[in-house]
Amino acid sequence: MEVLQLDVSGRPQSWMTVREAALLYACDSIAWTLGDACHVLRGGVQRSTGLQSRIEVHPIIAVRGAVPTRAWRQAPALTNPKLFARDRQICAYCGHRFHVDDLTREHIVPFAKRGQDHWMNVVTACRPCNHRKGPRTPEQAHMPLLYAPYVPSLWEDFILRNRRILADQMEFLMAHVPRSSRLLS
Ligand SMILES: [Zn+2]
Repeated sequence: MEVLQLDVSGRPQSWMTVREAALLYACDSIAWTLGDACHVLRGGVQRSTGLQSRIEVHPIIAVRGAVPTRAWRQAPALTNPKLFARDRQICAYCGHRFHVDDLTREHIVPFAKRGQDHWMNVVTACRPCNHRKGPRTPEQAHMPLLYAPYVPSLWEDFILRNRRILADQMEFLMAHVPRSSRLLS
């Protein structure tokens, strides 16, 4: 499992390992947490008390400190696993669902026609459809798109990049996902 790290205002910052989260607890860097403790780490015995140290890690942690704004301004990084998740592994041209190994990143306006490698110009396509379309636009190829591309929100991006999300984490992230998201359809 991974821990969802937020800034103090509640915006997602990263997925981190339990060990990384424990370090933040140990440094007293946690402002607040959400969800029931999902992992307990035991450390050494403290000489003064004779008790073993113990850190309870929560699935969602907000870390003290300044609110970073960089991640907020930028569109989420485009990767194939996230693109295929956004499009639910469905080919935009034939409408069939495929295993990720059989999917490709398809540029709606091809590179050859100055199309960009950006969320708004890419869809998921199976290999045969991608090959058939070639360096043409959907209009030229007479292959209309079955769904439209979109830029995932920050919260949606955190869902797309992790495949093992705990219930508490999913509930938190989904509450912020826009209604236009394909994850809600
Ligand atoms: Zn297809």
